Amino acid sequence: MSLVVVGTVAFDAIETPFGKTDKIVGGAATYSGISASYFTKKINLVSVVGEDFPASMFDEFKKHHISTEGLQVKKGQKTFFWSGRYHVDMNTRDTLDTQLNVLLDFDPILPDSYQDCEFLMLGNLSPSVQKTVVERMNKRPKLIVMDTMNFWMDTQWDALMETISMIDVLTINDAEARQLTKEYSLVKAAQKILAMGPKYLVIKKGEHGTLLFHEDQVFFAPALPLEDVFDPTGAGDTFAGGFIGYLAQTRDISFENMKRGIIYGSAMASFCVEKFGLERILDLSQGELDERVQEFVDLVQFDIELV
Ligand code: AMP
Repeated sequence: MSLVVVGTVAFDAIETPFGKTDKIVGGAATYSGISASYFTKKINLVSVVGEDFPASMFDEFKKHHISTEGLQVKKGQKTFFWSGRYHVDMNTRDTLDTQLNVLLDFDPILPDSYQDCEFLMLGNLSPSVQKTVVERMNKRPKLIVMDTMNFWMDTQWDALMETISMIDVLTINDAEARQLTKEYSLVKAAQKILAMGPKYLVIKKGEHGTLLFHEDQVFFAPALPLEDVFDPTGAGDTFAGGFIGYLAQTRDISFENMKRGIIYGSAMASFCVEKFGLERILDLSQGELDERVQEFVDLVQFDIELV
């Protein structure tokens, strides 16, 4: 079933304790779209880049059956740029620079061929643009998943609240859930966020796993203990792409299936962090993915008899 992915397509410059990159291709929609492509074959991208964006990346999108009809290229302008530095524990990072560039006056286009979409991923982007995309769909998709970050909480609070009230699943990290609700307890934070509109909430806790909340139910999935973590950039977006890609493939949006979606998303994210940028998720095989998912199953499986 078709999936529309909205978000940044970007240049990133990343510093981790293991090294440093120059400008490499990144962006929320890039990570989410590529990740979702391992599950569903009809992906439609909505974003904007500048003239400086490499043409080779369009081939990469095509290879992953991602339509770029809705990816605008702005002549004479520069692509969105983000730079970040990770701390030694790799769970926290500082944003060093955010240059909105083409995002400053981004007016999203939804080509006719995108209109039948049943699944919508509102990847990290200005909440007012995310809202415009929802409004420009002729029919409300069956499931809208949204991601956001502290940058938008700091700069577009009202628009963020409005967009959050329109969606089905919010995915954010633990620090952002706390910032959004001013609650330290993630259980209390979840209650407050679910009262803002979303029916489901995914809280990502980096190497400490993921929580899924719905009404009074909670599900927890661990992150895989990995030997090598080089660069966590894009892990959240890769997770979200795997999650919604799996739901779109199975067309089942029950809580039970979302649990499986969380595991597939977590498996994709575990690959993402193993190398810098997009490198590790560009050429995965089905065998590698199956093996990784099996590792998750083995990690949490145990028998217990209660007397
Ligand atoms: P993640 O590590 O999953 O939080 O996502 C990192 C990606 O988000 C990078 O590739 C950045 O280009 C992108 N990014 C950073 N800041 C923003 C922002 N304010 N809005 C949208 N995308 C962003």
